[in-house]
Amino acid sequence: MADVFEQKIEEFSKMAEDEVTRLLEEEKKLCICKDCSTYDTCMTENMEGLYCALGKSPCVVHERECICPGCPIYEEYGLTYNNYCIKGSEDELRKRQHELDIITGGE
Ligand code: SF4
Ligand code: SF4
Repeated sequence: MADVFEQKIEEFSKMAEDEVTRLLEEEKKLCICKDCSTYDTCMTENMEGLYCALGKSPCVVHERECICPGCPIYEEYGLTYNNYCIKGSEDELRKRQHELDIITGGE
């Protein structure tokens, strides 16, 4: 059975592109990355955020902490990873893990 994140991805796939863009803009307002000590000047200048959906930052990021698990988006979307600004989006990380599981047989 699909988990919360997979259900959300399914919902997104049925939406029109402009609807997805509008929703992502709304969700970005809830992102708490700006309160994280890892969030630096470069990220601020680019007005970045919502890395869990949009993927990693183009900035050279120096990891200090990650407060993603305390973010409302984290719970709403059933996210499972962290440090998205460095590692990439939840979707990318899940796909990478899935590929690894295929190669290693899930060990
Ligand atoms: S989970 Fe992390 S990257 Fe995603 S919106 Fe929240 S703070 Fe931002
Ligand atoms: S993704 Fe995590 S580590 Fe990166 S800025 Fe947001 S809260 Fe901080």
